[in-house]
Amino acid sequence: MILRLKAVTKDYIWGGTRLREEYGKIGGNRLAESWELSVHPDGMSTISGGEYDGMPLGEFVEKFPESTGKNSFGNIPILIKLIDAKDNLSVQVHPDNDYARKYEDDNGKTEMWYIVDCDENASIIYGFKDKLTKEEFRSAIADNTLLYKVNTVPVKKGDVFLIRAGTLHAIGKGCLIAEIQQSSNVTYRVYDYGRLDDKGNPRELHIDKAVDVTNTSPAEIPVQNNEKGGILCDCEYFTVYREDISGESVIKQNKDTFTHIMVLEGRGEVISENCRYTAEKGESFFVTAGTEWHIKGNCSIIYTVV
Ligand code: ZN
Repeated sequence: MILRLKAVTKDYIWGGTRLREEYGKIGGNRLAESWELSVHPDGMSTISGGEYDGMPLGEFVEKFPESTGKNSFGNIPILIKLIDAKDNLSVQVHPDNDYARKYEDDNGKTEMWYIVDCDENASIIYGFKDKLTKEEFRSAIADNTLLYKVNTVPVKKGDVFLIRAGTLHAIGKGCLIAEIQQSSNVTYRVYDYGRLDDKGNPRELHIDKAVDVTNTSPAEIPVQNNEKGGILCDCEYFTVYREDISGESVIKQNKDTFTHIMVLEGRGEVISENCRYTAEKGESFFVTAGTEWHIKGNCSIIYTVV
């Protein structure tokens, strides 16, 4: 079975308007993130259309546990977002599973970014240039010199970055990103550019926890550009593919796990034996484990399995 999903949107202060204007997302003027595949309690996808219209995805997979397949994680262990950074995101880090389960009652967060589109001079922050001690990291936050110690990496459309839990990072302004991550909503912010929120207050920082979990070794920056298709990322939590379709794609099936499909560009039809949906730019689909599916039309998709 294939289900069309309706995303949950978030209006964080750095968000832009592109997800509404170009990707058909519903939300206010400022639209930072759409959570395309999520069973996280902080924002759950719902099913749109068909027999289960309006049902939260988490309820569906509880009712039909076989729909997520026999993946070793159980349920849906990932969260997939579109992110429109009109302004810089805070410099931040996420804990690993052990730390997050112990202190946050949530999962750790390893994430992958695919640069769907970006401004000409866009960049991201990825780890440290040189090895710091934990004390040096703490004082760089305190005396506002952190941005001199981190790698600022210019990006272009099609770049792929895997950001493991413990890696300091930030999405820079002008990036539109597809993010595939572990299902978690734990972020430790260390630097927020001195910004104030809508109420005029600085957003909370989480420096002690960040110092605990951050890997302060110099980062090796992964360089991968993929505009042509194939595997974007294959790590222990998820495998992400990109494909350009013109005409008809070959039939796919994954017996062991569900598949999430997201249309990045163009338009097509997502088809299984019993289901057929038009698929527009920005739309997401959940394919239950074992279902044969393929796509017709002219479009670019990314699809993810665990
Ligand atoms: Zn992050």
